Amino acid sequence: MPETKVEIVEVSPRDGLQNEGTMLSTAAKVELIRRAAASGLKRIEAVSFAHPKRVPQMADAEAVMASLPRGDASYIGLVMNRKGLDRALAAGVSEINFVVVASETFNRRNQGASTDESIAVWAEVARESRAAKVPVSVTIAASFGCPFEGEVPTARVVEVARRVAEYQPDELGLADTIGVATPRDVAERVGAVLAAVPSIPLRCHFHNTRNTGIANAYAAFEAGVRVLDASLGGIGGCPFAPGATGNIPTEDLAYMLNRMGVDTGLDLKKLVETALWIETQLFKPVPGALSRAGLFPRAA
Ligand code: ZN
Repeated sequence: MPETKVEIVEVSPRDGLQNEGTMLSTAAKVELIRRAAASGLKRIEAVSFAHPKRVPQMADAEAVMASLPRGDASYIGLVMNRKGLDRALAAGVSEINFVVVASETFNRRNQGASTDESIAVWAEVARESRAAKVPVSVTIAASFGCPFEGEVPTARVVEVARRVAEYQPDELGLADTIGVATPRDVAERVGAVLAAVPSIPLRCHFHNTRNTGIANAYAAFEAGVRVLDASLGGIGGCPFAPGATGNIPTEDLAYMLNRMGVDTGLDLKKLVETALWIETQLFKPVPGALSRAGLFPRAA
């Protein structure tokens, strides 16, 4: 039987750092991305092209992109509007990740547009990215719940997925932006979206706000998802979602998958070293567990 593989997309440089009080220098961000790539992470969400007044931690996105060694990994730029796309393409990102929010209120708060308007922009983003020969994916934020509207029906997520899929993203992400999902929600929603848009690979993005993140990652894996977002150290959150905390820790997720016999292609020792390095940069402990508990077996 061929070994199962899971690809972990590293999001600490973007989702991780954007909600941290400590502002890292451009050089420190580049060092984080370099370390992530050296641990085997092949896709790294390096920057977002948000308005610098709204997300000051990402104001140096162009400078970060200009300093990254090319060829080490695929560098993803997150965009929420047309201006962001233009900046991302000019900065030479390897991939675009566009965000549409499943709930109307959060879409307005996050990107100052209705969900319909964002889907219209997505159509343009898809066309322009393809013309520039840059792979492009969409993440549906608040796919499991909204900080303002509460429950987001599965039917709504499926409807947004169908509409987004009309413009053929290379990948579709379901994000639990505020960390409210449970494994059953994951099984149900992943199943529903896979049934609705079977031709598009699914990625899942979990936050560990209520300590269900790793269980949700396992549920997504069991449901057939083979690409998962995670953040070294488990740092992060969303500045526009009250109470949001970090993503699932990359090193903890990689530990679980590796011990399950799933190939992640990652070097656990290096991941742990970087999680500990992040603590020296942010001047606080990271939420991840593996960096505290240690590897098992020790010699691994
Ligand atoms: Zn997130």
